[in-house]
Amino acid sequence: MAQKNFAVLLLGANLGDKIKMFADVETHITDHIGNCIKKSAIYSSEAWGFESNDLFYNQVLIVETEYSAHDTLLRCQAIENKCGRVRHENAGYESRTIDIDILYFNNDIIDAEDLTIPHPLLHKRKFALVPLCEVLPEYIHPILLVSNQNLLANCDDNSTVQVVSEAK
Ligand code: ADP
Ligand code: MG
Repeated sequence: MAQKNFAVLLLGANLGDKIKMFADVETHITDHIGNCIKKSAIYSSEAWGFESNDLFYNQVLIVETEYSAHDTLLRCQAIENKCGRVRHENAGYESRTIDIDILYFNNDIIDAEDLTIPHPLLHKRKFALVPLCEVLPEYIHPILLVSNQNLLANCDDNSTVQVVSEAK
């Protein structure tokens, strides 16, 4: 039997019907990556890094998968494309209907051109840390060697992150 890996995914959206989008994306993740064994509430925050009138919504899912980290990334990108993300030529932040980032993958440390795990910005972003702490407060970041709870307590990000919809 294939090895089970644990992928911690962060969903992000700031356009359209975000709650419906997250539900649809979860279905695709279950079908194409693996079972969702735990999920956070959906949180809202102000858009980070660019100007937008729409609130950002985020949710963390823990997914059990037999795919490698790279294959999980490819599958996340296929789901982003299918669910309507429009990529533009210019780099940087942009409004999108859905973004799926891999925060952690087992306790792996990966530094490849197209994939960095743990996600390099997760410890700087309250919109990632708040939902992460709901589902995995004690997990130790494999590079920084402190718990998610500790990362949140020491995070400089002052933005407001609040629950909009409890996990179902
Ligand atoms: P962002 O998530 O920063 O808003 P994108 O979703 O467009 O931007 O991602 C840009 C690139 O980041 C992707 O093409 C992907 O190869 C790369 N990447 C590196 N590490 C990760 C990770 N841990 N999770 C998701 N994407 C990653
Ligand atoms: Mg992304």
